[in-house]
Amino acid sequence: MAKFLFVTDLDNTLVGDDQSLAELNQKLKQHRQEYDTKIVYTTGRSLTLYQQLTEEKNLLVPDALVTAVGTEIYYHVDNDPDPSWSEKMMVGWDRELVINTASHFADLTPQPETEQRPFKVSYFLAEIVAADVLSELEDLLQKRGLNVRLIYSGSKDLDIIPRRGNKGAAMQFLRQHWDISPTQTVVCGDSGNDIALFSMDRERGIIVGNAQPELLRWCEINPADYRYQAKSYYAAGILEGLYYFGFFK
Ligand SMILES: [Mg+2]
Repeated sequence: MAKFLFVTDLDNTLVGDDQSLAELNQKLKQHRQEYDTKIVYTTGRSLTLYQQLTEEKNLLVPDALVTAVGTEIYYHVDNDPDPSWSEKMMVGWDRELVINTASHFADLTPQPETEQRPFKVSYFLAEIVAADVLSELEDLLQKRGLNVRLIYSGSKDLDIIPRRGNKGAAMQFLRQHWDISPTQTVVCGDSGNDIALFSMDRERGIIVGNAQPELLRWCEINPADYRYQAKSYYAAGILEGLYYFGFFK
C-alpha cells in the first residue's frame, strides 16, 4: 500500500450512513498515519454549514477543505482561505452583474445568506423548469461577457461560480501542491457538482451507489475505465471503490 490523495464530497457521499462512515474513518486514519495519505473534503457547503455538519457527524479533520463548490480552499478552518486560489477566482468575475442578470428570472429563488459567497451565487431552481431557465440564463450571462460556470445539483440547487473555480480544478490545485499523481488520487461523489471531479485527468473515480440521476447520465455519456460505479451507498460505496482500485487491501 502507498500514499494516496483521497478527495470526497460530503453530503450523500461520505455522509449518509454512520456505521460505514466509522469504518472508513478508521481505515483512512490508519492509512494517513502510516503512509501520509492526504484527506480532502470538497463540498457545496459554505464553511459555516461545514462546521455545522462536523457537530452532527464524526468526521476526520481533513488536510484541506474545499468549500462553496470549489471556490474556497482552507488548510485550517480558523484561517483565511488560500489567497493564491482566491486570486484565480477573481479573474473575470463580477458578482454584482451575475446577481443582476439572475434577477431577470422569476424561477430563481436566492438561497440563504450563508450560502452566498464571494465567488458563489446560489439559487433554488425547480427541476421542471430547469432546462429552459438554465439555457436562457447561460445565454444572457454570456451576452454580458461573464465567464462563469452554472452548476445544477440534486435537482434543486443552482450555483453560479467563476469558470476557473470548481471542485475538479481545486482538487488539481491541491494534487499539484502535494505533488501526487492522478493515478494515486481518488475522487468520490454523488451528484452534478461532483462531475468536475471526475472529468479532469485520470484520477480514480468512485461514484457511490446512491448517486443522483444527473451524475449517472453524465457517466453513461462519458464512460471511462478509471471510474468505478459502486453498488453500495455512501461511505460503504467509497470503501468498495477503494478496495476495487487497490488503495485498501
Ligand atoms: Mg453530494
